[in-house]
Amino acid sequence: MNALPAWLPVTSTMEKMYAFQQQLASNNATLSTHQGEDDAPYHPDILFIGCIDARLDLERLGITPERSLIRRTIAALVPHYKKDHPEQDFSETIEHALSRGVKHIIVMGHTQCGGLDACFHGVPKHLQRVADHLRIIDESPLIDAQAKHAIDALEPASIHVSLDNLRSYPGIKEAEAKGQLTLHGLLANTKTYDIQEYDEASNALKKMRLIKKPGDTSVMVSDFISLMKQEPPCAQRLENPDIHEPELLMITGIDTHINPTSLHIEYGKALIYRGFDPCAARRTDEKAALEFAIEVKRVKDVVLMLPKGSEEKLRQGIENLQHNHTVQQALAKKEIQLHGWIVDPSTHRIAALDPATKQFMPLGKTS
Ligand SMILES: [Zn+2]
Repeated sequence: MNALPAWLPVTSTMEKMYAFQQQLASNNATLSTHQGEDDAPYHPDILFIGCIDARLDLERLGITPERSLIRRTIAALVPHYKKDHPEQDFSETIEHALSRGVKHIIVMGHTQCGGLDACFHGVPKHLQRVADHLRIIDESPLIDAQAKHAIDALEPASIHVSLDNLRSYPGIKEAEAKGQLTLHGLLANTKTYDIQEYDEASNALKKMRLIKKPGDTSVMVSDFISLMKQEPPCAQRLENPDIHEPELLMITGIDTHINPTSLHIEYGKALIYRGFDPCAARRTDEKAALEFAIEVKRVKDVVLMLPKGSEEKLRQGIENLQHNHTVQQALAKKEIQLHGWIVDPSTHRIAALDPATKQFMPLGKTS
């Protein structure tokens, strides 16, 4: 008997992923054609900060893996810098991004954001961790009664808060002053998939400018933005009524070696949290993401995914997650399943952690 899968593919999302893994397992030709991909140079020049929302299919929007780092957190909110604050990992993310020579930081909010909506209407009492995270909004001096008067005022205001908070981190203002770094604020409309640009001078959202001239440092960002506009497959898929019923929460790091598209995770089915050290499970925003996914969105599966070579880290990460309050309660009530997966970025093959033996077993392996 094959010991795996330790989990049952109870949701259609899991079933499709499992089928894809089986297909890969029985097709060695596919494996060999993909080999060597992870040797491709990885030169991120964008740090992209987006919401965990399942409709934001960032990876399909022109963000190529070798060009970006992606951080995803509820409502794309960046906290104000606090020195030696282990509950936050934004300073590590930013330090890492600057050391990698990132030239653009993009904060992308979106319409119909569950996080901002909770902020606007008041966070239900039982969602303590979500409330802790959303305090970023209330603690900002930029938020006044007017910003909280209507959701369409709060959307640009939240981007303003994140951009302003970004400048509180060491190195950001200096890099901006030297012309080495540009900050951008965008708002994606999840119905039409139009993107608006936040204009700091007028504190308002404006139609996107597409700048394309040689030597313009914005060219690269414009390329990315025009890709977003050229390829609006999301707009059509959004018409599918089932689209916003995420079934799983994917937790992974900020580098893009792992992306849901290459793993055949269906569009709209996965909330995605990306953190600098997702295995620590001690960050305010990761706790909030877990609470939001499990208690509000009622996802069935929580999957911690790391690239090949991080096996030991993943074992520890799963243990840490098991001690997370929200996860612990949901596991006890058998409402979720917790998975630890090691992904080989060059073959897209997944090895799943067997919780009993602590060993990794390939998914989809035929016995
Ligand atoms: Zn959102």
